[in-house]
Amino acid sequence: MSINSFLMKKIISITLFVLFVQIRASAQLYNSFYGNIVNSCSIDTVFQNLTQFESLGIKELGSTSLTNTLLWLKNKHQSYGYSDISIDTFSYNGNDSYNLIVTKLGTVYPNTFVIVDGHYDTKNGPGANDNGSGTIILLETARLLKEVQTDYSVKFIHFSLEENGLVGSTHYVNDIAYPSGMDIKLVFNIDQVGGDNSKINNTIVCERDESYPSAANADSYAYTDTLAACMELYSSLSTNISNAYSSDYMPFQFKNYVITGLYEKNATPFSHSINDSISKMDIPYFFEVLKGAVGATMYFAVAQDTANSIPENTLTSFSVYPNPTSGNLSIDIHSLIFPVKYSLASTLGNIVKEGYFLKNKNTLPIKELDSGIYFLTVEVNNQNVTRKIILNKP
Ligand SMILES: [Zn+2]
Repeated sequence: MSINSFLMKKIISITLFVLFVQIRASAQLYNSFYGNIVNSCSIDTVFQNLTQFESLGIKELGSTSLTNTLLWLKNKHQSYGYSDISIDTFSYNGNDSYNLIVTKLGTVYPNTFVIVDGHYDTKNGPGANDNGSGTIILLETARLLKEVQTDYSVKFIHFSLEENGLVGSTHYVNDIAYPSGMDIKLVFNIDQVGGDNSKINNTIVCERDESYPSAANADSYAYTDTLAACMELYSSLSTNISNAYSSDYMPFQFKNYVITGLYEKNATPFSHSINDSISKMDIPYFFEVLKGAVGATMYFAVAQDTANSIPENTLTSFSVYPNPTSGNLSIDIHSLIFPVKYSLASTLGNIVKEGYFLKNKNTLPIKELDSGIYFLTVEVNNQNVTRKIILNKP
């Protein structure tokens, strides 16, 4: 790709970005601290890492390339300052293979984990897209978040032998995470997001759990909507929602952990071939996916701007309509943290109704109350905002 077309894409990106921020602002708030971190993604670092990944060769079971890639990843994370790095060894068809697990401790919920994962093994080729793309996003996200405080712990997991049938992730779930009762908030899987440079790529697929067993499906739907909102806030991309299948989130899915994931909209025809190289990828598209993924990871792990005494990712406002109402209130909460507590009080200060909002858009029926004036207070992280409501029943 020429520099000119790259710059042109960047300009279009920035224009679209501003547009999307305005469109999405009512659903989820743009966090300028998250935005600053996202904008410090380095295309040079990313391109360099991807080039090194490609040059490591065909990373198949039992190959030196696979082991070299593991060591290369470990060195990268060490160079970013991580010390909690473990190699999880498992055996398959007479060969040892290795998952790489890098843990970043959360300050509020150290024992609850957001897992960001992608496989680093490849099939028949160097796998620049499948799955160098996800691997390099994990690296860059880990690099950028090293000094950022998060409420939840984050595990960056590079799985091996995905291409042999989800072998590394199945081992990790069945032999480690599940038996130890690991508390996992969310599994965020990134696999093949590098784009096909013979196509126009402007959409990323956000994947949700539509499979049996279904206990975690509803949560997966909600988190995937949130992922899509983050992708649109922190990148120039549009989003599609689709079902999750055939990648490392599935062993988690099967144990009813909550999963979500990213996959490219225009699937490359070169996966699992010797031609799965950087030259076939759409690098500006890949870079946008990276930005969205960094923003989403910060959101899922509840990153804090510790330099700023008032956390930005809390309640800023809410809107209530119609007001006056005949009995059904619509309430839009502009908060990055849920649940948000609400209470409705009479003019005498008696609480007549209370509960929690779990999402941005809510309805609250109050038909059972007498006509009159009420005060609706919503509260999160010790911040609260109160609005006067007039109920005028017909
Ligand atoms: Zn893959």
